Amino acid sequence: MGNYICDNIGTAGAHLTFAGRDTVELAEKYGTPLYLLDEDKIREKCAAYTTAFRKYFPEGSLPLYASKANSFKQMYRIIKDTGLGIDVVSGGEIATARAAGFDLSKAYFHCNNKTDEEISFAIDSKVGYFVVDHLGELTALDAIAREKDVVQKVLLRITPGIDPHTYEEVNTGKVDSKFGSAIVTGQADEITKAALSLPHVSLKGFHCHVGSQVFGEDVYDRTAEVMLEFMADMEKKYGYVTEQFDIGGGFGVPYVESDGSIDIVQKIAEIAGTINKTCERLGIRVPAILMEPGRSIVADAGMTLYTCGFVKNIPGYKNYVSVDGGMTDNPRYALYGSRYTCYIASRMDEKCDMEADLVGRCCESGDIIQPGIRVPSGTQRGDIAAVCTTGAYNYSMASNYNRIPRPAVVMLKAGEDYPALRRETYEDIVRLDI
Ligand SMILES: *Cc1c(COP(=O)(O)O)cnc(C)c1O
Repeated sequence: MGNYICDNIGTAGAHLTFAGRDTVELAEKYGTPLYLLDEDKIREKCAAYTTAFRKYFPEGSLPLYASKANSFKQMYRIIKDTGLGIDVVSGGEIATARAAGFDLSKAYFHCNNKTDEEISFAIDSKVGYFVVDHLGELTALDAIAREKDVVQKVLLRITPGIDPHTYEEVNTGKVDSKFGSAIVTGQADEITKAALSLPHVSLKGFHCHVGSQVFGEDVYDRTAEVMLEFMADMEKKYGYVTEQFDIGGGFGVPYVESDGSIDIVQKIAEIAGTINKTCERLGIRVPAILMEPGRSIVADAGMTLYTCGFVKNIPGYKNYVSVDGGMTDNPRYALYGSRYTCYIASRMDEKCDMEADLVGRCCESGDIIQPGIRVPSGTQRGDIAAVCTTGAYNYSMASNYNRIPRPAVVMLKAGEDYPALRRETYEDIVRLDI
């Protein structure tokens, strides 16, 4: 197997393999750039969550796949098959899940700024739960639900004020966040009181999400304590007993060797221990627990393949290896300096004796996939480059900048491969033009 960032990566002769498949052959078969997704890995991760949930959390607990990590119809079919629920953050994600036949009673609708149209569409689509961000949204939802003569189940998004010590740009649980209603400002109390009094919403519990790519040892323990203390407060004050506590997503995955990694089952056992202990101390019942893993389900199920273009050497300065994709299919380095492990997939038997920046083909100097990677000096136009761990926040963040068509997504399952999304064509590019 060797020293790879995930156990689904390896080599066969000079070629890199992924999910047991020759990546150079897959690049030839489907063209590049190409997103690969290891379906077996996705199912393995979902199974880790469901197994741990059954073992450690009370009846009614459910892991929800955070759609935004990677959302398309086949993804929802796979998630449906694994028994997980979903979180959705837009009308578009709801429409996609709906088109895939996903049971939306197991969907939780997030977003800090749901439009009236989306609220209406979500209610009509029978989305099970709204995760309400703030008081204004709660009253807007209650009004629309009244018009439709329904009572909408809701969780309230609470800001516990926990800094998960992760990258500032992906940090959403602090008090000054654009998300949620804060405990310390009294707004969390206020929205709870309102939810209990409005007739067309039915309060089912509380939600929080402190950040993403979290490795910190006690982040979830501290979060659970703060949230459960708030729930105990609400019980004392309003007699409201929390049915569901959604502790959010955010488990980190390793992108490069120096990153940590999280054992999903063990971490959930620890969190459950803290929750049980805290509930006992506070004298409250343990609510059903929800979590919303996105990255930790799909990130290392993904790999992106490119064909190398020109290799540019600027003597005394830098080397560039350019590829036929870029920030259009992977904007994460441009957005927040994300690290990636990269290989020249067609030269795995050669020594990596050259340093280079792996760059895209967009008209933008920030179009860098990863700076300072090690590659064989023989790398040339026509070689295949592979970027690991691209299953989360790559396709879902892809754009048509420079009118570049988006790549295909090919699923790998039990030694077979099948397309889940076809490659965009120039026809697709002008499809919406009037
Ligand atoms: C982004 C997000 C998630 C998923 O986070 P991951 O880091 O991908 O696990 C879950 N819940 C909410 C509310 C989010 O914003």
